[in-house]
Amino acid sequence: MPGRNFLFVPGPTNVPDRILAAMHRPMEDHRSSAFPRLTRSILPDLQRVFRTTTGQPFVFPATGTGMWEAALVNTRSPGDRVLACRYGQFSHLFIDCARRLGLDVDVLEGPWGEAAPVDRIEDALRADRAGNYKGVLVVHNETATGVTSDVRAVREAMDRVGHPALLYVDGVSSIASLDFRMDDWGVDLAITGSQKGFMLPAGLGIVCASEGALAQSASARCPRVFFDFADMQRANATGYFPYTPALSLLYGLRESLTMLLEEGLDNVHARHHRLAEGVRAAVRAWGLDVCARDPQRYSDTVTAVMMPPGVNGADVIDLAFRRYDLALGAGLGQMAGKLFRIGHVGDLNDLMLLGALAGAEMAMRDAGIDVTLGAGVAAAAEYYRETAPALAPRQGAASTPEARRGSEPRGGAARIDHDGALAAASASPLTGRPQ
Ligand code: PLP
Repeated sequence: MPGRNFLFVPGPTNVPDRILAAMHRPMEDHRSSAFPRLTRSILPDLQRVFRTTTGQPFVFPATGTGMWEAALVNTRSPGDRVLACRYGQFSHLFIDCARRLGLDVDVLEGPWGEAAPVDRIEDALRADRAGNYKGVLVVHNETATGVTSDVRAVREAMDRVGHPALLYVDGVSSIASLDFRMDDWGVDLAITGSQKGFMLPAGLGIVCASEGALAQSASARCPRVFFDFADMQRANATGYFPYTPALSLLYGLRESLTMLLEEGLDNVHARHHRLAEGVRAAVRAWGLDVCARDPQRYSDTVTAVMMPPGVNGADVIDLAFRRYDLALGAGLGQMAGKLFRIGHVGDLNDLMLLGALAGAEMAMRDAGIDVTLGAGVAAAAEYYRETAPALAPRQGAASTPEARRGSEPRGGAARIDHDGALAAASASPLTGRPQ
């Protein structure tokens, strides 16, 4: 099909040209005297993105799934008891990973579409007077349902009962796109992959370990070879890796970090929130529901759109892909067929999203859903107009068109600061939520 594929799955995400260019380089000797410069520039910038000063980042040639394993095998022993919550396919797979590694996992089951149940976590930890739980496993942003859990509240609950368990947080679809604060939230193991907020191809797994987590790794008896933190720490200390690193991806990561820090993490989060709000306005205009039940917990990286009775979400996805060259995310696990997902994470702008919403509307109509073509696009377009950054006057013009008409740009929810970046935004005109 001519034209570009519209990639709107929640990872892998679009890779910006700057990153593609940075990765397009010949291979080199990863044991040369020049190589440590790259490693040494990446690790401190990763700390900035994880918002930690004392956490130790590790970069493996792997994916998010590998980082579940790395986090667990480096800090736990077979038979250790951990507490986990299941509220979507990725929290389910995290639990499955822990069980297959020989851990004893107690699961708090929650409806898919809800967030981590902080009260029930607190109750379970309070009841564990003997301190048997060695870890609490939480998925920050459940990509299967479009729900963001409150990690800070989980930490506060742990602290209230004074429980010493480590806090393991899957931030695969949140870190580098949603607000994530490893130090402030007392996260011990923060896990992510390269193919979402970092805007890279899949292939790097990144995990950051707190000092407390590293202290436990010496006595952790789960077998580990490839993912051994100790090997990685020793090699990284000299600027190298214990085995052949994924060179192209590391150069891509270097550029990704530069882009994220140039834009500023708060601006990255605000941009994702604004784009997500437009998508949610479109879903409302379609008369459909999102999977997430609590608006406070709506994800700013992925929206899961529930299908009306009798419609299989897989048909919408297939029509979108084969007819309109638009890739939407599938319903996973128990949500298979019940929804489709729109990923709005990474390198995106208003018009790209409007294109995806147009394709989703067309595919939904083709699948027999009674949506008015243009309704969702119009709602999102209005929102994006209302919240568009105010512009300085065009060169040579004394004032902006809005000023000449005697009106301010609508919404005023965002402004361009002196760097041209999207600066701190006020409350959303649609939801009142801070942006
Ligand atoms: N955790 C979450 C929240 C995810 O969204 C994903 C993948 O989409 C994973 C873990 C697994 O990551 P990977 O596919 O990179 O192994």
